[in-house]
Amino acid sequence: MHVSGMILYKFVLRGCIFLSLITALPLFAAEKPTQLKNLILLIGDGMGPQQIGLLQTYAKLAPNSIYKGRLTAIESLFNHGQTGLSLTHPEDKIVVDSACSATQLATGHISGSEMIGLDAQGRAVRTILEQAKSQGRKVGLVSDTRITHATPAAFAAHQPHRSLETEIAAQMLQQNMDVLLSGGISYWLPVSVNDDEKLQQHYAQLTGGHIKIKSKRTDDQDLLAEAMAMGYSTVFDKHSLATAKDKVLGLFAYAGMSDGIRNSQEKHHPQRQEPTLAEMTHKALDLLAESESGFFLMVEGGQIDWAGHGNDASALLHEMIKFDEAVQVVYDWSRDREDTVVVLTADHETGGFGFSYNRFNVPQGKALATEAFKNRLFQPNFNFCDRTVLDKIYQQKASFYNIIKTFDALPEAQQTPLDLARLLEEKTGFPITSAEAAKVLATEPNHHRVPGHKYLDAAVFPKVDDFESFYVYGKDIRGDLIGRVLAKHQCTVWATGTHTATPVTVTAMGIQTLADQVKGITSHAELGEMMMFWLDNY
Ligand code: MG
Ligand code: ZN
Repeated sequence: MHVSGMILYKFVLRGCIFLSLITALPLFAAEKPTQLKNLILLIGDGMGPQQIGLLQTYAKLAPNSIYKGRLTAIESLFNHGQTGLSLTHPEDKIVVDSACSATQLATGHISGSEMIGLDAQGRAVRTILEQAKSQGRKVGLVSDTRITHATPAAFAAHQPHRSLETEIAAQMLQQNMDVLLSGGISYWLPVSVNDDEKLQQHYAQLTGGHIKIKSKRTDDQDLLAEAMAMGYSTVFDKHSLATAKDKVLGLFAYAGMSDGIRNSQEKHHPQRQEPTLAEMTHKALDLLAESESGFFLMVEGGQIDWAGHGNDASALLHEMIKFDEAVQVVYDWSRDREDTVVVLTADHETGGFGFSYNRFNVPQGKALATEAFKNRLFQPNFNFCDRTVLDKIYQQKASFYNIIKTFDALPEAQQTPLDLARLLEEKTGFPITSAEAAKVLATEPNHHRVPGHKYLDAAVFPKVDDFESFYVYGKDIRGDLIGRVLAKHQCTVWATGTHTATPVTVTAMGIQTLADQVKGITSHAELGEMMMFWLDNY
């Protein structure tokens, strides 16, 4: 399916209406039409309306909200920009993955599941980043996952599958981009590093010693050395990032960067080595804004999705806060500029999250001194969720993923349901019984086993009572089961361990005639096409 004729007609038509308006009105006739210099695309991976709702609910309603009456950056962007909805589906299916969705945003072509930078037939198609670069703009990618992960990869690589990160890293380097900041050094080291202690020491020294040195490449290409030969400043911690100039390749972690909970705990620590997503975004803007002919920057909050897969409300909240800090940097940088458009969207929703009323802890009656309640107590039938729960969700000390990791590292004799219950209480602050913890540890045969499959090969899976086919990530499902045990305490529900097809919001701020074009209901391929049209025509 291709709709470009219609789309171009739509954009041109809107542009013409604008032009005829300014020629018809002498008051505006002298004004020079605004030029689009910079385009900044902010992608919350897995950030559906529900995830934005969680951040806003916390920010506005938590008794001890860290926002203290301040607007979130996302709210500021919504208030100053225009918003529409977008369907994210791939070419021939209903639900999308991050690779396909980002490809559609990046290329304006509808694509196939798990493809990187290809149209639905598998042809390599130009990305908005490649377009911007060919126009002489500077280009950059920032993500808190790893730079070769699906979302950033779709802007700068062309591969039949998102898992081909060895090839993706090599292609990304060939693009000769100006700014690349993320985690995932493992795909930039030659595979021989795994058996060569001297080489390990060399890279440990080069990177400052705080990053695990191990290659996940399938070949011996040394992309770090190649990057240096191409004139990149290669940086591995926040201090060297701060002073870096010109072309910068920053790889700050072995795989994904710090998660949201850790970001909240450590962002003010003076010894922190990793830059935050906000710091990377800030630096990217500094470097790219040196360009006379403008820039294209994509910033991803990539772990919102991971928290959603984990059905972990606290992790999700902290990921939203982490992403919001980066959005704040972009909002502050761009709000008074007339040459920049900022687009905030998501690739899909993850988890089907919600706060939900229930029959656990139904409220006691309360007297109200008003005429209406003269003869009865104020006593709703159900538990509509105390706001104090928002502070408790914020205070969780580690993600479910990391709690399970801690549990798995205990001596085997201490891996009982009682041990897990204690650990969960300590980390989450909610009362958990041994029987509930036992449900997290229960297993069953994998009813949908696919031998040799990356995720579905295991004969035994954690036991999910219902909707089990929507929980696909093997042992990680134990995290989702923690989410179920905590649900009644947190007043939270989850629909799935994967993605939903809920339409996502698209908000654009900046040059008004362009920002206005995101209104209505669109699709991600159309949205990508629209942004590429802007770069060519405004
Ligand atoms: Mg992503
Ligand atoms: Zn996902």
